[in-house]
Amino acid sequence: MHESSHALIQVISYLGALFFFLFFELAHPYRPSTVSKLKRWVINLSILGINTVILQLLFAGVTIQTARYVTSNQLGVLNMVVLPSGVKLLITFIFMDFILYVWHLLNHQVPLLWRFHLVHHTDLNMDVITANRFHVGELVISALIKISLIYFLGADRLGVLIFESLTLLSTQFHHSSLKAPGWFEKIFWILFVPPSMHRIHHSVVIKERNSNYGAILSVWDRIFGTLRNDVDQDKIRIGVGAYPKQEKLNLHHLLIMPFTRPVR
Ligand SMILES: [Zn+2]
Repeated sequence: MHESSHALIQVISYLGALFFFLFFELAHPYRPSTVSKLKRWVINLSILGINTVILQLLFAGVTIQTARYVTSNQLGVLNMVVLPSGVKLLITFIFMDFILYVWHLLNHQVPLLWRFHLVHHTDLNMDVITANRFHVGELVISALIKISLIYFLGADRLGVLIFESLTLLSTQFHHSSLKAPGWFEKIFWILFVPPSMHRIHHSVVIKERNSNYGAILSVWDRIFGTLRNDVDQDKIRIGVGAYPKQEKLNLHHLLIMPFTRPVR
């Protein structure tokens, strides 16, 4: 598969999921918004625009080219052993999701990383558009880690493609303000991350925020004891305590936030 078809699959799955979740969250929100959606959307989509330009300039196609390179040159841990391609694909997927869990946890525990990740958490309401709100500094470091990981692992190319598409899909779903049926959430929690689980992670209460780090699979939170589900969804206040007002959360505030005063 060519790099351009890889990029096309990403864009189609991104837009498809965006409109799908947007439609359902507008029709069935878990509760009404407390701040203007339009204002938040303009800010978050501006961030998306800036990030897309910078990441394209720096890393266009590098992830998948690295996977192609390690496969054709038989580099990395997975290429040291003979394994069926399906097994390599599965290991690639599971390992990359695990590293994303660890990376997210470090973003909360390491003060320097939190300065960047904080920007994502300052959104005062959470919906599918929140999934785009990341400081470019966080995304650049995370891309470098992902590329090194693919190299080290000798990651399967299809595994990387599936992982990236599912990360995108899962991130949009668990940020959405969609009120999913209770029975569905219960079943989904067992293995994956539903919106109610990630809403707890976006709470202003620090001990609630420092839980539920999972991106696709919820099993890492279960295994490492960071899972939290004993929180009343209606009482969760979304955001970061130090930034309660939308007026202090305009685009320019968010862009310089990592370089200003540290907050918890
Ligand atoms: Zn977080």
